[in-house]
Amino acid sequence: MATPSSSRSGADRCPGLLTPFVSADGAMVRLRVPGGRVAASTLAEICSLAGAFGDPDVTVTSRGSVQLRGLPDPLPRELITAIGDLGLVPSGEHDKARNIVADPDAALDDLVAELDAALLADPGLAELPGRFLLAVAGSSGPVLGEPWDVAIIDEGGVLRCDGGASKGGSARVLVDGRSVVVDRAAAAQAALEVARRFLAARPDARTWNVRDLPPEARVDLLQGGTACVVEAGAPPAPGPVGEDLVALLPLGLLTPTMVTALVEVLSASRGSSQSSSHLDERGQSTLRLTPWRSVVVPGGAAQAAELETAGFVTRPDSPWTILTACAGAPACTRTSTPTRDLAREAAPLLDPTGPPVHVIGCERACGHPARPHATSPTPASAADIVAAQRSPLRKA
Ligand code: SF4
Repeated sequence: MATPSSSRSGADRCPGLLTPFVSADGAMVRLRVPGGRVAASTLAEICSLAGAFGDPDVTVTSRGSVQLRGLPDPLPRELITAIGDLGLVPSGEHDKARNIVADPDAALDDLVAELDAALLADPGLAELPGRFLLAVAGSSGPVLGEPWDVAIIDEGGVLRCDGGASKGGSARVLVDGRSVVVDRAAAAQAALEVARRFLAARPDARTWNVRDLPPEARVDLLQGGTACVVEAGAPPAPGPVGEDLVALLPLGLLTPTMVTALVEVLSASRGSSQSSSHLDERGQSTLRLTPWRSVVVPGGAAQAAELETAGFVTRPDSPWTILTACAGAPACTRTSTPTRDLAREAAPLLDPTGPPVHVIGCERACGHPARPHATSPTPASAADIVAAQRSPLRKA
């Protein structure tokens, strides 16, 4: 017999989608992908829905989530149902709280899944602000450079138990410059305990992040914590990593051509790979979207040329490694500056070894990198963006 929850339709499971963001070019919905882990078939289905109902280009965000834009307002019931049926909104109440970024390392997949499951299991954590960010990192992982509130660093280790090897060892939970070491198996709950204390300590609903709390309130977030210094590694550069491939999405856009190529490459690599470690329990390839607008393609190294032809960047010397832009006009009504079009014009003129530059249409600076970067505000031409790369860097 169907349980009450399993009998709910996809649309009933994601009430938050019924009130999408609306702009001049239509409605936008943001689909959270905790840790950026997503089955290739699910991503292909998302892109198919985007093409069927709105802008066929899907935006990958600096939190490794995806946005569908240019949708009808109100959203068609068929679209909401299809998104719900993909399992992307397991709890409408928790949807805005599922902000988890993670290093794109397969060894962290279990920690990401445990953290998301534990968050979903606690009704109180649905109150976390949409800007509150949880991070799961390897030692010196690049995701530690992102603006997280609470982080788990996997310190590795394997326990030999009856029945074979299992992951054990320890993990470090960090908040506000202090950390504690916990059993790896307890790390998700320890991080979420910090989140619960944050909710209890915040003075009002506009306190979105740990850094917004007064210093005396932050001290009590982590019991027994000691001071620590966080060192973040550099984000993975486009190119092969063993058998896998880091493929960058210029401007964070995933086009239908790119998705088709991705599906073909994964299909080919699945047939030739000796390893099934990148397959989920349904035999689907797991992609890892990163906060740096790239995707780690399992088994993709041998087919980098096909992905490059489709529009991905697979070389570390591309200007797209240092160039980003907000959505700009016409997608955003706050500006008349076509930021993306100007960025495309400027890309071949920029120094790929120079500092990062972010093109914006207004002071909100949406989508800016977390690392120091130059800003090109409301450029009138590609030359303005080139000039901006030589301007002083600013921290995020
Ligand atoms: S930075 Fe301004 S112009 Fe650009 S997308 Fe954000 S609100 Fe719109």
